[in-house]
Amino acid sequence: MPEPLNKILDKLVCISCASGRLSCPAPETLLCGSCRATFRVVNGIPCFVAEELVSFSEVKETERQHFIDAKQVAYFRESFISRLYNSYHQYAASRRTLLPAPLTLDIGFGIGEHYPFVSAREKAEASFIGLDTDRFKLEYFSALHPELPVVQASALQIPFRDESFDVVQLLATLEHFDAATAAAVLGEAMRVLKPGGYVLACYPAEGSLLLRAGQLIMHGWLRLKTGFDLEHEEVHHHLLSARDIQSMLLSVPGIERCESINYPMNVNSIQLSLFLNEMYRKDQ
Ligand SMILES: [Zn+2]
Repeated sequence: MPEPLNKILDKLVCISCASGRLSCPAPETLLCGSCRATFRVVNGIPCFVAEELVSFSEVKETERQHFIDAKQVAYFRESFISRLYNSYHQYAASRRTLLPAPLTLDIGFGIGEHYPFVSAREKAEASFIGLDTDRFKLEYFSALHPELPVVQASALQIPFRDESFDVVQLLATLEHFDAATAAAVLGEAMRVLKPGGYVLACYPAEGSLLLRAGQLIMHGWLRLKTGFDLEHEEVHHHLLSARDIQSMLLSVPGIERCESINYPMNVNSIQLSLFLNEMYRKDQ
């Protein structure tokens, strides 16, 4: 069994019966001890999606190099653009350090845009776990960083036990869902979060004037550098505004907001913001 998967096996739960523990009778199979459902492990990454979605990626094969180039510029190479985009990664990582040794689930892990902010201890303890439905993105990440566990699963059916995480991160993720789906994702996040655990939600100030101006500049810069045109790219559409997301988070039963920081200026105006960085605490 791949080593990072071994480290999280006791935290996984069968998504078919929602209660069975999983074992790994063969390197490419997980088996539910309760309902006997099996789940494939492909290239070291367990699949908790329907068979026809195992090879799913939102990035077309012909677009993949451009996509990776754009991600490099936006997140992994030093520039004014990556400093902006990485502001919410920095925020989330700084909030995790307030907890002694948190176990964290990152929903919408992508190609590991948060990886540069994962601590040495989190890597050593495999206490930072990525979840995404996109097989291409997860395999791209895993080939570079096989030490960190990732799972291919839907945020609507998270294959982890109730109350197993100290932190659930949703970084630039909620805005990609419609309202009903985002509410269901938050419900699943609450289920897997321990009492007293934290939701870290960082999202673009969609709907604000500053963000629109910033997007035109950033997208123009990325197009110039990489040829990847986010203005004409359907996968990055934002379905929810910052106000939608904020009011949805505030109405989730059983959590309260501890912090809301508007970036780059911490003034309480979505219009003057690029991102909102927020922390919510689940009731004890
Ligand atoms: Zn089962």
